[in-house]
Amino acid sequence: MQSPIQQYLDSVHERLFDVHGGEQPQNNPSLAEADPDLCGLAMTTADGYTYTSGDAEVPFSMQSISKVFCYAIALQDRGFRFMDAKIDVEPSGSSFKDLSSEANTGRPKNPLINIGAIAATAQILPDSDGEVFDKILRVMSGCAARDLEVDEVSYEADRDGGMHNRALSWFLASWGIIDGDPLPAFDDYSRQCAILTSAKDLSIMSATLTNLGVNPVTGKRVFSRQVAQRVLSVMLTCGMYDDSGDWVSSVGMPAKSGVGGGIISALPGQLGIATYAPPLDQHGSSVRGLAAHRILSRDLELHFVRTS
Ligand code: GLN
Repeated sequence: MQSPIQQYLDSVHERLFDVHGGEQPQNNPSLAEADPDLCGLAMTTADGYTYTSGDAEVPFSMQSISKVFCYAIALQDRGFRFMDAKIDVEPSGSSFKDLSSEANTGRPKNPLINIGAIAATAQILPDSDGEVFDKILRVMSGCAARDLEVDEVSYEADRDGGMHNRALSWFLASWGIIDGDPLPAFDDYSRQCAILTSAKDLSIMSATLTNLGVNPVTGKRVFSRQVAQRVLSVMLTCGMYDDSGDWVSSVGMPAKSGVGGGIISALPGQLGIATYAPPLDQHGSSVRGLAAHRILSRDLELHFVRTS
């Protein structure tokens, strides 16, 4: 007999077909051409069991969801004091593309908008025998419990068309937040956004954070407890860009969205959740993904303020 959790997840998935609207980014062929009807849900428990529904194993580029994990890697490599001097942890209240930074230092408002994410990636130290990006892919694969790959088409579109992110990178270098040539960090950032994950992978990655740094599927520690705690905190206040306040009010969990159509959320100590549906709202978050998270939070009482 099917588990009640599976039945419930399938019923949420079905309800999402009543939700319509949203648009896909046209500046990246991988995102523009994704089937708008794809829709997948996944949930991984702290004891490492994953439930999925719909298109939960279809790979798509993680885009901004990568920011969470690269910030964690940089914190792990450099420590809190070093990273806090480079990047603040305040919600920006503006779009992910904004130049949100301190007026007289250039310090980005937080690591989950583009400017802060590029600054974070620039601080990651390579493994002794490789490049920075090899390390990013290795650690992210450790969070997903499988070897992840890059969507080269998406990477090249962001690298070649990313004038805005290039400008942000030079801005960071002008303030000394990035030391020297900022283009390697821009390149690594463009590539990290193109890492292919499914909703199932992302739910395991999110569960690695909720499980305070230990991947519940492999049992291996990826991040320290303190790093996981910090990252989840910043996800709560800054993970949904200029929609973060509405999200905290209605869903009430740490989260991160990406323009690839993915959204992850995390119930500390208990659950990692991920959704995938390509059409996006005006903030750059998946329309059906938002609806799914609202339903799950309400039905399962996942909001951090309990009402019953
Ligand atoms: N690659 C995209 C960018 O850098 C990611 C943005 C996003 O997912 N919000 O603009």
